Amino acid sequence: MDGHIRSARIHEYKKPLKLDNISRPVISRDEEVLVKVGACGLCHSDLHLISGEWKDIIPINLPKTPGHEIAGWVEEVGKSVPENIMKPGDLVAVFGGWGCGWCIYCKSGEEQLCAFAKWPGLSSSDGGFSEYVLIPSYRFLVNVPNSVARPEDLAPLTDAGLTPYRAIKKVRSMLGPGRNIGILGIGGLGSYGVQYAKILTGGSKVFAMDRSDNKLELASQCGADYLVNLRSSDNLVDGIRTETGGKMLDVIIDCVGTDKTFHDSISILAKGGSIVIVGLFGTAAKIPIAMTVLNEYNIFGSLWGNYNELREVIELLNEGKIKNNITKFKLDDVNEVIGFLKDGQITGRGVLIP
Ligand SMILES: [Zn+2]
Ligand SMILES: [Zn+2]
Repeated sequence: MDGHIRSARIHEYKKPLKLDNISRPVISRDEEVLVKVGACGLCHSDLHLISGEWKDIIPINLPKTPGHEIAGWVEEVGKSVPENIMKPGDLVAVFGGWGCGWCIYCKSGEEQLCAFAKWPGLSSSDGGFSEYVLIPSYRFLVNVPNSVARPEDLAPLTDAGLTPYRAIKKVRSMLGPGRNIGILGIGGLGSYGVQYAKILTGGSKVFAMDRSDNKLELASQCGADYLVNLRSSDNLVDGIRTETGGKMLDVIIDCVGTDKTFHDSISILAKGGSIVIVGLFGTAAKIPIAMTVLNEYNIFGSLWGNYNELREVIELLNEGKIKNNITKFKLDDVNEVIGFLKDGQITGRGVLIP
């Protein structure tokens, strides 16, 4: 290594990323860890970032390397990283949501909710569309020693495979035999969502909802009990009423998050039902006040997952209880892959291999 690395970087919003040769990051603080990227997932959040849609809410300096779903190997550690926790060569998954470590959220283990939380590739730090990434502390790495997992299996678990896990954990006490859960949007998150719904909800029936037959086919392979094509079903409400014997859905995990998906969700929700919004496609939705009161609806937001939840999903992967649906791409093809993601042509998660 000549001290230079290849990184795909945003130079200008709405423009293709440029593949640059830049200096390899250098450890300057004792807790830091340099990670050799083995794989980095592509997320719709990357599209929002690259298009500049988020430039006011997440101000960043350009050029910037995106990529927040990262796994790889420890290359170098700072002086204070305990050897029994982490050493060069270890396989690691990168936890996003780097909190301050001190506030009430961080102290309760919810660092992704910290007011000062930073994400690789989404805030001031460079991300994983690169050969190497510098992590500010070993506290943000989950060490996966002796695992049979490959970086490309671990990378999507740090976001796509984590976010629906937390969302379903929030509401699983409302589910069980005779109950129904819907996963709305079978993209990167939804295919994991269907699997967690089968594992965590004690016999509930799982409804997968999407506008693409390919994605519904994937949901079926992941164990969904009913497939609902939102494009071709002209009467969603009647369809769900028939399939559930009039009970409707007790929980809906909205992996899309638009005005339309919120409206659809409310229309097929059971009394006392819950909607958990994890998708970020829309900006606002109207809540029908009377229906919400009369039917005691619950509406939750759910952000990412915490460090221990990342450990749990990695545990599920190691035990063979969940499977990934990934398509691998070369870092050099990053702009083409971004186009595929925009056009909805990637089934499951697209993963870049530097
Ligand atoms: Zn993401
Ligand atoms: Zn904090």
